Amino acid sequence: MNPLRIIVWGENVHEHQNAKVAAVYPQGMHRAIADGLRGLLPEATIATATLQESDHGLTVERLAATDVLVWWGHMAHDKVSDTVAERVQKRVLEGMGLIVLHSGHYSKVFKRLLGTTCSLTWREADEKERLWVCNPGHPIARGIDRYFELAQEEMYGEPFAIPAPDEQVFISWFEGGEVFRSGCCWTRGNGKIFYFRPGHETYPTYFDANVRRVIANAAEWARPQGQWIDSCPNAKNPPEPIKPRT
Ligand code: ZN
Repeated sequence: MNPLRIIVWGENVHEHQNAKVAAVYPQGMHRAIADGLRGLLPEATIATATLQESDHGLTVERLAATDVLVWWGHMAHDKVSDTVAERVQKRVLEGMGLIVLHSGHYSKVFKRLLGTTCSLTWREADEKERLWVCNPGHPIARGIDRYFELAQEEMYGEPFAIPAPDEQVFISWFEGGEVFRSGCCWTRGNGKIFYFRPGHETYPTYFDANVRRVIANAAEWARPQGQWIDSCPNAKNPPEPIKPRT
């Protein structure tokens, strides 16, 4: 198999506006996520892209040469151009894998691909999150025990307004009592999509070994399986001759 080509896309705004976030992620959240992937997928090519770059770093050419895109966004979802969101959607339908993290649930690319509001409930109370593996045979859960915990995270709760996932890999429980479908798989066109809940910007979640393992597993799982091109050709030459009707 060819080495995976991965882009980690970061909104890269909180890091420059909130000293607490800058202290946790001095190089930016996208770089911490990319470093985790580099450590676990040494054969892969890992690059980053940010909102502030021309075309948000996601040109047609660059996306065409990408196997898996990882997406973290929150406060600037509306600053992502419709053109780039449509471009990402098209590539996923063709076969590119997409991993959407945490507050990316409200991103243009995720909502476009799933077709629902993707709304949820939330609370910031420095509470414990326990992520249960509910599908231990799934490749995204490889190397993960029955569950793992994050000492402090933001709470996300149900109802999570998503289409029923094709596969459920994790369910989260929070100290305050809520539960949440925190690891969800879908296929759209020829592309695989994984949503993974943890990753609020004020916590060091993307340095956690289990979180890094899950994102790396998801990148391998989301590897493109062939490519579908969006066209409707006229099949004038059938494989078998068709007898003329009299
Ligand atoms: Zn958050």
